Amino acid sequence: MGFLKNLFGGGSAKPEKRYYVFHVKCNRCGEVIEGRVDLDNDLSIDYEGDSTVYFVRKGLVGTNRCFQQIEVEMKFDSGHELIEKQVQGGTFVE
Ligand SMILES: [Zn+2]
Repeated sequence: MGFLKNLFGGGSAKPEKRYYVFHVKCNRCGEVIEGRVDLDNDLSIDYEGDSTVYFVRKGLVGTNRCFQQIEVEMKFDSGHELIEKQVQGGTFVE
């Protein structure tokens, strides 16, 4: 059965998740807009005490005739897990 293990990788390394995808709903027109954080390129590093965190700020505009800009701010830990999020001009859709 050893070869099956090899076929499916068998390694313990988790596949790297490159993008964090989220959705926000515009407060003005109700459009749901998809946003994407490129975890390799969009994050700015910061230090909080002993821990390393990553920040990202995104401005999203929908495709409707609505010029409401939705501002999203997110914070990730060193393992790229989301630990904090804020939005202005819209709400997060889970
Ligand atoms: Zn809108």
